[in-house]
Amino acid sequence: NRRGMSNAVAVIGLGRFGGALALELMRNGTDVLGVDHDEATVQRFNGKLTSVVRADATDEEVLRELSVNEFERAVVGIGSDIQASILTASRLVKFGCPAIWAKAITEPHAEILTQLGVQHVVNPESDMGTRAAHLIQQRILDFVPIDDGYALVRCTPPVPLQQRPMDLLNVRQKLGVSVVAVCRPGGQWEPIEPGTMLYDDDQILVIGPTRKVERFSNLA
Ligand code: ADP
Repeated sequence: NRRGMSNAVAVIGLGRFGGALALELMRNGTDVLGVDHDEATVQRFNGKLTSVVRADATDEEVLRELSVNEFERAVVGIGSDIQASILTASRLVKFGCPAIWAKAITEPHAEILTQLGVQHVVNPESDMGTRAAHLIQQRILDFVPIDDGYALVRCTPPVPLQQRPMDLLNVRQKLGVSVVAVCRPGGQWEPIEPGTMLYDDDQILVIGPTRKVERFSNLA
């Protein structure tokens, strides 16, 4: 049986990316083993994560001593030191860790991590740039890419859908998207039912192919 802390996540490299990620996991009730080779960084996270260890993550033996080879999920937050990032990621791949996330800082870096077998390569700056481009578009308040070509969008209701009972089937057939939830000013998110009325100060959640949710949220 692999795993003691069975849902725990190993976060290696507690810089801006790894650090924020580790703290958010803790806030959501997930145990985190944090690893960083910088003493001051380790001090800073002491007591804020389930455990924090000062170690060089490129050393396979060190990772085994920390039982990192037994984690189901691991994050490589090392970015600027590309060699350390690649070495650490390759150790995790060798351990057979089933879900590895790694941060890349350039396109070639991302390419190598993918070739190594890292399942989830993120490039925070370019990913955020892509996301911001969608947010800048008028009505879109939040844009979450789900997969290539599929997205979830938070937006205000397009005028043609306002002040009339929602016809969900018609929207799905004509516009190719699903409107799934609504939030009234000062209220809470609730599911949209057929017949729900929408107003211009509501917010809605819409899911569907990226091009279609965009076209939807840009309707006059
Ligand atoms: P960010 O931009 O997210 O802050 P950095 O690449 O600057 O990313 O920071 C990565 C973190 O990873 C730093 O805290 C650094 O000390 C740590 N780190 C770098 N190399 C190693 C290594 N070989 N072993 C463990 N931690 C490392």
